[in-house]
Amino acid sequence: MACSKSLYAVIKFNNPINSFYIMLQRKFDQVVKSHFPNAMDAKDTSIHYLGKMQIEHKIDISKVLMATSVCSDDINVPSTTFFNVLFGPFIMGGLGGLPFAGQTGMIAFAHHIPDEGSAFIFYGPHIGITLDGELGKMYRPRQEETGNSCGALMLALSRFQDSDYRPVLNEDDYQQMKLEESLLPYREQIMDSENRQKAITEATYEIIDKKVHDHLKSCKDEFHVDRVTLLGGIIINTDYGLDDYFDARNFEVIDVKNLS
Ligand SMILES: [Zn+2]
Repeated sequence: MACSKSLYAVIKFNNPINSFYIMLQRKFDQVVKSHFPNAMDAKDTSIHYLGKMQIEHKIDISKVLMATSVCSDDINVPSTTFFNVLFGPFIMGGLGGLPFAGQTGMIAFAHHIPDEGSAFIFYGPHIGITLDGELGKMYRPRQEETGNSCGALMLALSRFQDSDYRPVLNEDDYQQMKLEESLLPYREQIMDSENRQKAITEATYEIIDKKVHDHLKSCKDEFHVDRVTLLGGIIINTDYGLDDYFDARNFEVIDVKNLS
């Protein structure tokens, strides 16, 4: 027999597992907002910003190609799937979220945009959080102990404890070494901060934000459309199965042809 809509609602709300997840999500909401007061869950983020693009900027969402510059970590996949209504994603990011695809990646992305369409770039680092409010850690699927998130950033942080540490670029670990090299100028600021895990994530955001803008500027003539929307910020990973959060730092619709 088919389950009627009202019966489905009764089952849904009386389901103890469902109530448990709702309760857990509410708790995470408070914990996340104690560190990132303006963060929104990933679903609200996508609705909010896609709405802004469509309503305020009159962008035709059906002709938008998306690129991401977020960390390779599998845990970030759910946060980008909320934008699945868009074409893509073209993946620019590597470890830490830096746009390792570089200028060639930006040019390829520019060439793939639908005719009379526009581009959208979602970028930023990520940081895990536990229900106890510990930043830089999270429970991963089917693992009992907490793990690092972002692993690449937490590794850099542990190496930075030694003030003499200098990353050496090599082709077998290029991305991690390059990430650490980019973060080195921020080392003192990170080590002096109250929360080093948060500080290294904030520094990484600045690096990614600057690189995305630099690549856009240097590749602007490759775009055959006028508008590129940027949404940058920090992805906050909660427990597996619950919504992640996003703390937006930059939303802008750029007239790419007139970038100076
Ligand atoms: Zn990561």
